[in-house]
Amino acid sequence: MLPETVASQVAAGEVIERPASVAKELVENSIDAGARKIDILVRRGGVSLLRVIDDGCGMDRDDALLSLERHATSKIRSASDLEAVATLGFRGEALPSIASVSRFRLTTREKDAVAGTDIVVNGGKIGVVRDGGEAAGTQVEVRSLFYNLPARRKFLRSENTESRNLEHQLHLLAIGHPEIGFTLVREDRILFQLPPTANLVDRLRDLYGPELVDKLLTVEREASAAVRVRGFIGRAGLSRSARDQQLLFVNGRAVENAVLSAALREGYHTALMKGQYPVTFLFIDVEPGAVDVNVHPAKREVRFRDPGGVREAVVRAIQRTLESDRAGWQEKFRAPDPVVGGARAVVPQIAVPVAAPPELPQLETEFALRGQAARIDLPNRSETDGPKRAIEVNRPYLEPTQEVQRTQQFQIIGVLNKLYVLMENAEGLVLVDQHAAHERILFEELRRRMEEQGVPSQKLLLPQTFDLPPKDSEWIARNMSILQKMGIGIEEFGPNTFKIDSLPQFVRALDGVQFIQAVIDELKSASDSSSPLRLGEDMIAKTVCRHAVKANDPLRYPEIEKLIQDLLECDLPYCCPHGRPTMIQISHAELEKKFGRKV
Ligand code: ADP
Ligand code: MG
Repeated sequence: MLPETVASQVAAGEVIERPASVAKELVENSIDAGARKIDILVRRGGVSLLRVIDDGCGMDRDDALLSLERHATSKIRSASDLEAVATLGFRGEALPSIASVSRFRLTTREKDAVAGTDIVVNGGKIGVVRDGGEAAGTQVEVRSLFYNLPARRKFLRSENTESRNLEHQLHLLAIGHPEIGFTLVREDRILFQLPPTANLVDRLRDLYGPELVDKLLTVEREASAAVRVRGFIGRAGLSRSARDQQLLFVNGRAVENAVLSAALREGYHTALMKGQYPVTFLFIDVEPGAVDVNVHPAKREVRFRDPGGVREAVVRAIQRTLESDRAGWQEKFRAPDPVVGGARAVVPQIAVPVAAPPELPQLETEFALRGQAARIDLPNRSETDGPKRAIEVNRPYLEPTQEVQRTQQFQIIGVLNKLYVLMENAEGLVLVDQHAAHERILFEELRRRMEEQGVPSQKLLLPQTFDLPPKDSEWIARNMSILQKMGIGIEEFGPNTFKIDSLPQFVRALDGVQFIQAVIDELKSASDSSSPLRLGEDMIAKTVCRHAVKANDPLRYPEIEKLIQDLLECDLPYCCPHGRPTMIQISHAELEKKFGRKV
């Protein structure tokens, strides 16, 4: 049998990794104790001092002593209670663990008690127990963390890094509990002071400022589902190169979860550049029985009973939310109020129907695959056809009908460098990347086709059979149905042998086998996901969109008009299928600053 103190130190190894973990456990205890106000004070990265003061329910002397015993908890009684844990804590390990690796002091008083209790513990050994505790609530003071565990102490990072970790941890707790006031003081400086608030957005504003909040979209809660998703996510175009602001909460608990991270990536799929992470403050609520919170000693991870359902709900919520931003985005293209008699009257204005087109326009796209399978070029149509474009989307011009459709004016100034369409709106200058815009338009067009009737395919003159290494065969077999939806007529023809007899109409390949090989190479690595839709999207994005209008393809004025108009009708107009922005706004204020009119 290990002595009690050693056992606690071993347990501390899992639960208490660094000062941030101490802060997490103590603040979670305060939240569980019903605190309305929690003050945290740290010195030297939390290593020399970490103090948490709450105004929660407090403890009487017996409970205070008991709380320092291993496996003592007031939150569950039996293993079956784990099915419905409503508190953040339940393991009964934090206090004894922390007390075993620090100089520890617990001061607590119940609201109506005459006297409180003050307990001092050093390295797990109870020193003093006496009357004490002025205010109702609990104060835990942790000094000299890991003083008796030099090996652990060596693993700590610099004070600044530990402080930053700790601050991040407190952000998570504060965002998870806007109804509680939080103060963090570091070396006598207030880092934040957050008043209690009824809603999340105020808390986010207090923490990150209005600039970030302005870039967030509200995820509307879905009433009926078994998985409820709510919170805020960044608009397309808002991203970070690290996960710091990709926050996820499950039943109020900040978690890391592979299923959820994958769902975020999928939801943002074409709205995020490679290597970037979205900004999310997303709350996923499920029945307590539908999630296992007891899979990580620091309760940082959870496991869902129905990961597929959760994932789907999150993907859907994100996609719906991003698409809901479309109207606000279209607003960006609105021309400024016309100046009567001014120069603006000279520039033609175009009416754009805002409502969706009544029926799907016909898409006529043609590609020729020449030479290497991966290179698809425009077939040289008649040179007199006007400017060369890789793809033509023949969409009939839509006449807006009076009652149902609002019209929008946009104002094109010209084209810069044969690539950027310059436009004017109320805020200033808008630049549209015509290539990115065209990619987005095509992408959505093809995706719609894929989802609906499937991409039309074209028979090859001669069906071809080919062999693949087992891994590629497995990939093809697994994704057969989506390949067929994409218009690739492919079937198994023996072990590791396949037959291909048709290709998507928009690809005019000379060599079907080369084409399919290129598709496999590109998609195999790109798509770790099991979602066929995502795979299809990847496929379209990779094989088709690369061949949209290239920079330096001069477009004539009506073509530019049409491009902007088609872009405005897209679900996610603000970025190309690879997540790059389609447009940039330069405000009047920025221009004024650059010209030194304003400082
Ligand atoms: P757990 O939170 O898993 O129950 P802890 O070791 O963190 O285990 O805490 C042990 C017990 O001490 C808790 O169950 C709770 O009853 C009591 N406790 C801890 N911190 C506080 C606090 N700030 N206010 C009131 N009670 C507390
Ligand atoms: Mg606890």
